[in-house]
Amino acid sequence: MKFLVAESELLGLFKICVNCVNEAQGHDNHRKRTFINIILKCDVCTNKRSWNSQPFVSFIPAGNLQLSSTFLFAGAIRSQALRNFEFLKMANTNTDIFYMHQKELPPVNKYTFLEEKSRELL
Ligand SMILES: [Zn+2]
Repeated sequence: MKFLVAESELLGLFKICVNCVNEAQGHDNHRKRTFINIILKCDVCTNKRSWNSQPFVSFIPAGNLQLSSTFLFAGAIRSQALRNFEFLKMANTNTDIFYMHQKELPPVNKYTFLEEKSRELL
């Protein structure tokens, strides 16, 4: 199950150090389409926490791969599906990434691979 989470609400979860419970400030460290990495560094106890919004399949964020997969499995028209994300101002993939994911997957077992990975992550 996945949820639509506003960036402001997400960063609100990274305002306290889990080690010493003092105020801290997490920041957006890295983004890759639907993936975000947040780093929280505590100035008081020097604790550092890194959080990823999703696991990886090889070097691809699983959500990005799933998004490309859903277009394929649902037979969706990519341009219309991507427009929905644009109206929501939501992180998404694009046509280049979609085709890159298709090229990177083994051609013979592409559909089976995507189905298995999607099931594992659902
Ligand atoms: Zn701390």
